[in-house]
Amino acid sequence: MKIITIIGARPQFVKAAMVSKAIKEHNETNQNKVSEIIIHTGQHFDANMSDIFFNQMNIPKPDYDLGINSLTHGAMTGQMLEKIEKVILDEKPDWVLVYGDTNSTIAGALAAKKLHVKVAHVEAGLRSFNNKMPEEINRILTDRISDILFCPTATAVTNLEKEGSTNIGYKVVRTGDIMLDAANVYREKSVKPEGVSEGTFVLSTIHRAENTDSKEKLTAIFSALSQIASKEKVILPLHPRTKSYLEKYNIELSPSIEIIAPVGYLEMIWLLANCSMVITDSGGVQKEAYFFKKPCITAREETEWTELVETDVNFLAGSNESLIVNTYNELKTKELDFDTKLYGDGETRGLILKELISY
Ligand code: UDP
Repeated sequence: MKIITIIGARPQFVKAAMVSKAIKEHNETNQNKVSEIIIHTGQHFDANMSDIFFNQMNIPKPDYDLGINSLTHGAMTGQMLEKIEKVILDEKPDWVLVYGDTNSTIAGALAAKKLHVKVAHVEAGLRSFNNKMPEEINRILTDRISDILFCPTATAVTNLEKEGSTNIGYKVVRTGDIMLDAANVYREKSVKPEGVSEGTFVLSTIHRAENTDSKEKLTAIFSALSQIASKEKVILPLHPRTKSYLEKYNIELSPSIEIIAPVGYLEMIWLLANCSMVITDSGGVQKEAYFFKKPCITAREETEWTELVETDVNFLAGSNESLIVNTYNELKTKELDFDTKLYGDGETRGLILKELISY
């Protein structure tokens, strides 16, 4: 069996690393080998946003590096579609495997489907119900044309049912969340980032377009972080997009926020394991906060990880400065229940591979 894996952005590297691991383990003990061809679309290309994940997580070197980045959504998706189609025609895979909700995800699914190649979508069925998010459009369209939809949660399965999944003809499989596999595999191997000073800290990451693209929102979020940093250290690995918008808008950063360059996965796991709380607008980091039993304030109006909000471990604060600060204050004295097993048991990679082989 031959699989083409399509990845291009940081969250996809973390997820794909786990399926590559499952393929490697399968091939060590089975006669019917699975071959994996990796296409890196090039959406994230900096050493600390891309290479470091391949090195730390033993992801095989990409077979194709398309080098497509820094374009508008339409241009980026269009170029990806054209180049991925060519690879699929040359490689003739049994499956194209796509992850999450980026332009690489929809481009890969669409290119494959038009060539009658089966598509599997990892992290399917998520909905934020905010059609202004580019990610939401990518999710909906990718799900609709995929052959197998690997859902991380019960909510994801329900979302698809509401859209009429039983009439559509794709296969929906609840697998648990592949990011839990990654967190469990690397938990013991975490590395303290260089230069991080001692003491209790809040971990923050901010990079969603809906926040970075608005001067008002970005200013409010960073003011909230400054207020919090006057009470407890805040460590913030700065995404390149956020960095350029902070400069563009001339937003002054409080020196009490410990801004660091984006870190590798092993360092990120260390920060998650050792922080007191998380403040983020990332999708993946919201779940990781839960994996590491840390309260999370989400700087968004809504989340596709609704079960975290429903079980009172994640608190939506948007870009509302006082709400972020007040929620932080409240959470300092609150005991939360993280023993709800929302995301399976960390064995998602094996379930995904088994389904692809037996379909
Ligand atoms: N991450 C990382 N280093 C960082 C920031 C994030 O390794 O400096 C990890 C994070 O823990 C998660 C993955 O990158 O596993 C993807 O998260 P990101 O916030 O980039 O994307 P999203 O999940 O919002 O799509």
